[in-house]
Amino acid sequence: MADPDPAGPPPPANSRSPLWLGGLLFLVTLAASAWFVDQMVEFGERVEQQHGLGVVNTAAALLQPGEVAALRGQPADAGSPAHDAVRADLRSVRDANPEFRFVYLMRPLPGRSDRFVFLADAEDPDSSDYSAPGDVYEGPSYELRNVVETGRPVFSGVVQDEWGSFVSALTPVNDADGRLIAVLGIDIEQDSWLDTQARYRSFGLTIAGLVLALVALFLVGLQLQRQAAQRMARLGQRLAEQLRELEQAQEGLRLADIVVRHTSEAIMVLDPRMHVVSVNPAFERLTGRRAVDVVGQLPPTLAQEPALMSRVMAAINAGDHWEDEVWGTRPDGTRYPVSALAEVVRGEDGGIAHFVVVLHDVSAQKELEARLRELSATDGLTRIANRRAFDEALLREWERALRSGGPLSVVMADIDFFKRYNDQYGHVAGDACLQQVAAALQAGVRQGGDLVARYGGEEFVVVLPGADEAAARAVAESLRQRVQALALPHEGNPATGVVTISLGVATCAPVRGREPTALVDAADRQLYRAKAGGRNRVEAAD
Ligand code: GH3
Ligand code: MG
Ligand code: MG
Repeated sequence: MADPDPAGPPPPANSRSPLWLGGLLFLVTLAASAWFVDQMVEFGERVEQQHGLGVVNTAAALLQPGEVAALRGQPADAGSPAHDAVRADLRSVRDANPEFRFVYLMRPLPGRSDRFVFLADAEDPDSSDYSAPGDVYEGPSYELRNVVETGRPVFSGVVQDEWGSFVSALTPVNDADGRLIAVLGIDIEQDSWLDTQARYRSFGLTIAGLVLALVALFLVGLQLQRQAAQRMARLGQRLAEQLRELEQAQEGLRLADIVVRHTSEAIMVLDPRMHVVSVNPAFERLTGRRAVDVVGQLPPTLAQEPALMSRVMAAINAGDHWEDEVWGTRPDGTRYPVSALAEVVRGEDGGIAHFVVVLHDVSAQKELEARLRELSATDGLTRIANRRAFDEALLREWERALRSGGPLSVVMADIDFFKRYNDQYGHVAGDACLQQVAAALQAGVRQGGDLVARYGGEEFVVVLPGADEAAARAVAESLRQRVQALALPHEGNPATGVVTISLGVATCAPVRGREPTALVDAADRQLYRAKAGGRNRVEAAD
């Protein structure tokens, strides 16, 4: 076909949109999410450190330098007004921040920057964790020294001492001259610190998870869309194929329709109830009926002949096929012979879907057959029945007479002196004479019942069914007179000078066991007698 394929194969670029690109995007998103979570945790750490340092600096600023300076870092400080005031300040800081485990004030031992002594502690004095004024701190002191040496606040990493694991915010407390008089410390328990970090981490993870889920959803959506596009492309391809098949089927149907419309065979399609569904133009021409007058009805011939209908059904039931020669009648009454053929068309379920009936007009064939039959029974020269037709008629009438018990007569006739006629007038004239005698004989018998035949040469025979001897003799006599009345000149016939015939008559009532030829022989014998008796006469058996 020249038509461009409307669907064609699906566009390759779209269908091959690579899966690995989606995977790469997902991996990049995953890496970015991990980075984001790390950033989130770091950010949280910084925020919490800033918060810790902020609180510790504020607390340090709240402390009265005079009161702090009054503390000597000895057990005797306990119960002094300065110690009570400072402790109250420390407790208020701790109470305002539940995540702060310890809030305390320290000072380096004089001349020992690496050893620190407690000045005050927010902890309850009854607690086993309480550090009394003058208690020497035994834990790691690197961060504390850092504060003393730099004069700046510090947020420590995890530090372990006798009270547990902590992170600490440490800040210097200075007097009015800016000299360091103490270090304020806030300890946050490691677990609490880690919990806070975990909250930042889980927040980061939640955000990252959401982004990942969105990307995954996007990729899945993309993949689904791609699959849908491929499915649509395949569907389009299938549709195009079906369309092509349909077009081909349609072309086939169109050709079949042309054949059906233009064939000379009459075609009928019947439904399973044998009602006409459609007929072709040849049907209309053959039957003289219009399609609109037969569609929806039984075919006219079937409707007129119930016996034919049951014959057709029996044949169809036996083998899905029926074939016969039938006569149809046109609306104007004329009859036509057809060779009819019916085939069953079965549906996919195996049931009868349609009958296709083809009617072939056999009128010409029938006419030819009739003509041939006629020719084979007719004498070529005289146009009357020939010897074969006579034999058949004699047998037929013999049988009929046997059944009816009636008489049957045969008359043999022979032209007198015909040899002489030929000799004198010629053979062609002899033929013409034979034709005229035959016509006279034919005209002299009862049409439709009696039969005149050329028996051979110039001999004729007449079959007279139901004629007794008297009747037959009378017919023979009238035939003799008819021939003489033709007055065909015949100089060789001395008695009359015209063509005459001699006739022999035989009559019998046929009985079983006798041959009909015996009747012919008997007539022949009487003919012989007529010849012997002087010719131009009738003789009959007594
Ligand atoms: P009879 O009176 O005894 O019957 O004498 P006949 O001459 O008629 O008898 P015969 O049987 O001797 O002669 C018959 C003749 O009929 C012989 C033949 O030439 C002639 N004949 C037979 N058939 C035809 C035919 O088809 N055409 C012609 N022209 N003559 C025929
Ligand atoms: Mg003769
Ligand atoms: Mg003869």
